Amino acid sequence: MIIVFLGPPGSGKGTQAKRLAQDMKLVHISTGDMLRDAVRNGTPLGLKAKEYMERGELVPDELIVAMIEEVLPQKGGVVLDGFPRTVAQAQALEGMLKNNDKDVSCVFLFDSDDEVIVERLSGRRSCPNCGAVYHVKYSPPKVDNLCDVCSTPLIQREDDREEVVRKRLEVYRNQTSPLVDFYREKNKLKVINAERSIEEVYADLKTAISNEC
Ligand code: ADP
Ligand code: AMP
Repeated sequence: MIIVFLGPPGSGKGTQAKRLAQDMKLVHISTGDMLRDAVRNGTPLGLKAKEYMERGELVPDELIVAMIEEVLPQKGGVVLDGFPRTVAQAQALEGMLKNNDKDVSCVFLFDSDDEVIVERLSGRRSCPNCGAVYHVKYSPPKVDNLCDVCSTPLIQREDDREEVVRKRLEVYRNQTSPLVDFYREKNKLKVINAERSIEEVYADLKTAISNEC
């Protein structure tokens, strides 16, 4: 099963993808997490990606596609979180899957208003060590500002600052939202109301996966 999570930044894709991957034994591929690791480790990819990410822009397609080609498993199920983000990336993904006689099974659009997104991103806290994600109000850590998993002090992502968030929402509208029609035309798109609680969204996803994917 190849599942794609599509939606604006902060709509809850990573939160649900981590849970779904654990629950259904899928490989979770988050291009945002991979890029942040590359930046932290100062790899050649990280050095190229850093400035795009800081500005809230998309990293060029060829870098992202090469990164995905390296990690996409030949066997087993996958949940793709934050990829594809352009039509060119979606076409490249189709090509990669076709080589293994596979195809995208289902695309979930995390539907959410900008107001909800801004509130979620301004309260998001992340663990710089293990990547766990929290929210000060909706998903707080057990001990104030410390990661539940590894006790590392939590940080606010640089690109969650308000002016970068605005830019990322504009980039989503211009470059990523054309994927909604791209996948709708292929009859793969399922819309999820991402404004509900983490539990409710997860329950909706599970029902949709078992009935429709
Ligand atoms: P994305 O991966 O789409 O950028 P995240 O999964 O990181 O989004 O979620 C953004 C923020 O919103 C995080 O702080 C997360 O804890 C919180 N969050 C995620 N889903 C929900 C939800 N359904 N209700 C409230 N807060 C949520
Ligand atoms: P995310 O964690 O998914 O919000 O991604 C953080 C940032 O990484 C984005 O704002 C982009 O700069 C970059 N990024 C992540 N995934 C992609 C992608 N598929 N294509 C281009 N850039 C990406």
